[in-house]
Amino acid sequence: MAVTTPKPTTADQSFSTYRAAVVHEFHKPLSVEQVPRKQLEQGQILVKVEASGLCHTDIHAANGDWPVKPSPPFIPGHEGVGKVVELGPGVTEVALGDRVAMPWLGYACGTCDHCISGWETLCLEQQNMGYSIDGGFGEYAVAYAHYVVKVPDGIDPFDAAPLTCAGVTTYKAVKVAGTRSSDLVAVFGVGGLGHLAIQYAAIAGGRVIAVDLLDEKLELARELGAEFTINATKEDPVAAIQALGGADQAIALAVSPKAFEQAYGTLRRGGKLVFVALPADNNVTIPIFETVLNGITIAGSIVGTRTDLREVFELHAAGKTKVIREVRPLVRVNEAIADLEAGRVVARIVFAP
Ligand code: NAD
Ligand code: ZN
Ligand code: ZN
Repeated sequence: MAVTTPKPTTADQSFSTYRAAVVHEFHKPLSVEQVPRKQLEQGQILVKVEASGLCHTDIHAANGDWPVKPSPPFIPGHEGVGKVVELGPGVTEVALGDRVAMPWLGYACGTCDHCISGWETLCLEQQNMGYSIDGGFGEYAVAYAHYVVKVPDGIDPFDAAPLTCAGVTTYKAVKVAGTRSSDLVAVFGVGGLGHLAIQYAAIAGGRVIAVDLLDEKLELARELGAEFTINATKEDPVAAIQALGGADQAIALAVSPKAFEQAYGTLRRGGKLVFVALPADNNVTIPIFETVLNGITIAGSIVGTRTDLREVFELHAAGKTKVIREVRPLVRVNEAIADLEAGRVVARIVFAP
């Protein structure tokens, strides 16, 4: 009788708990603690995390800032990157040992109008890593194989992490903006997202104006290709950008409704404003008359698809983008959050678990 050896589906059986950073209560420090390893369900994989970026969204999540809130306890993180160490039932898309990125879009239905038309990021059935399902702030994370994206060989996992949200989100925002060569693009906020937005707008052929409140951020913006920089604490960005002829597109990445209103004011006739940041204060005042008469478009842009992320990785592997990040241990997560909120982070913090 022939004996068939079952295909191994796990590389490591030896642990039942792992360390992760957990939100137990909004506005309270995260707790770094042991959490139980879960049995994988259909389509799921276990990933040994190598790197996990801290997005400002993780702070909004931990504070319950948005109208739709996560339910504590939960593990934040939607820029997790690591190697697949266990395959759940039915997984064929990835193999043990593959390096994958686990983005915000952790799961979608795959069959609704949005999913089948290339807008899976609008799926009503979606689950989000680090929000409605546990995310990448741990030594391990569980993800759905259909929604991870393979990280090409040669990309450092600590670069791949910020690309997994900050990269894909701003790459998509530039697509939504429709930037073409010689367009003037105003990027409001040179943080984790903004430092990559500048590069994607330049790759699309735009001439970039970076706006922030901190001179160090603007210095970085110039190094990354911004042609003009404006410190909004010293100069009115609306007047300065209108003096340049007005922006064809403005991308709002600053966590401040005032920045959205200023970004609107910088547009030239026919211009487009792309909403990306998600400040806790959910309201802006935009004039109806000028929007109509000036033919202004306002669009919301939410992360990007798996295809967008593959393109982001392709550009990075080809040496077209630079990720500015500092690596810190996950156990110092609360200090990292405080530093990000206080503007003490150059662009992105990436945790080593
Ligand atoms: P960040 O803190 O790294 O960057 C924000 C930057 O804005 C900082 O450099 C800060 O100095 C600057 N800033 C603050 N107020 C400003 C103002 N009035 N004018 C100009 N600049 C100002 O944050 P991040 O991780 O880049 O995230 C930015 C926002 O985008 C967050 O609200 C986050 O939740 C959101 N986000 C949205 C999506 C999406 O899909 N739409 C995806 C990821 C993040
Ligand atoms: Zn994010
Ligand atoms: Zn769907």
